[in-house]
Amino acid sequence: MPVATPEQYAKMLDAAQQGDYAYPAINVTSIVTINAALKAFADAKSDGIVQFSTGAGQFASGLNVKDAVFGTIVLAEAAHRLAEKYDILIGLHTDHCQPAKVDSFLKPLIAATAERRKAGNGNLFSSHMFDGSELPLKENMETSQELLKLCAENDIILEVEAGVVGGEEDGIDHSDVANDKLYTTPEDMVAVHEALNGLGRFMFAATFGNVHGHYKPGAVKLKPEILRDGQKAVMDKYGADAQFDLVFHGGSGTPAKQLQETLNYGVIKMNIDTDTQYAFTRPIVDHILKHYDEVLMVDGEIGSKKSYDPRTYLKLAEAGVATRLQRACDELKSTGNTVFGKV
Ligand SMILES: [Zn+2]
Repeated sequence: MPVATPEQYAKMLDAAQQGDYAYPAINVTSIVTINAALKAFADAKSDGIVQFSTGAGQFASGLNVKDAVFGTIVLAEAAHRLAEKYDILIGLHTDHCQPAKVDSFLKPLIAATAERRKAGNGNLFSSHMFDGSELPLKENMETSQELLKLCAENDIILEVEAGVVGGEEDGIDHSDVANDKLYTTPEDMVAVHEALNGLGRFMFAATFGNVHGHYKPGAVKLKPEILRDGQKAVMDKYGADAQFDLVFHGGSGTPAKQLQETLNYGVIKMNIDTDTQYAFTRPIVDHILKHYDEVLMVDGEIGSKKSYDPRTYLKLAEAGVATRLQRACDELKSTGNTVFGKV
């Protein structure tokens, strides 16, 4: 199956909301990691989301080109082709886009989908994130409104964020942000609903103490009840249909029990980057340490071609990511829940 159509993607999200599970959304940067994601989702019989950051796009475009839009389109086109081989549904998404990158990154990608649609080839992307969390909420919502309308014209879902995810990701460092900013208030959640309701479908990354990166146990104070209280505030005022589709950022290292608590409060997408970065690198290090004198030409020796052929250790990396991601499917309860063939 190729990437989910907009209708199928919407039904995937509905199924997760109704079934109290969430999709792992894995950040990929190469064909190897796209294949790892597809393998994991297929093996788990789970649908899922593959996403690209601006840094991934730039990386994928090559050292001489360094063009985030171009590289992201290349990765998305590759994902469309590679996904054809699997009997699960995949959504393609782009991660954090700060206000300064809207014109140079987000709008050209929406235009790329519009072009594909015009040619009768369907959407290039299923959803995009606009991260206006650095702005005052009012300005954040003004830009979110403009982008949501633009996305809705192209059957794209927009993810927005209010509140700040702590830590560092893709060169954006929030580790010095005041602690109270890490928690979205119920008033903010009501304001987000009021600003965006009716303009198009959106997902919402509310923050509840989550941070990007991986921390030792105890360093992060997650308060999932923030999500529960915010949902309640919105639904008390606007009815059950006002329930948000929530996104969990910065979940690496979170104990399964806490992850699962958020599923009851409407989280349907959880981003996974740091944990799979480690899962990629770990088997490579293992290979290199075990085969030190084969991957290197030591003291005039010639090493072993089989050991230093990049495919040897990239296959191990692909399998490592797939194993970690399958665990994510299990923890987020998307395992066995593919809606492929049903929607
Ligand atoms: Zn994030």
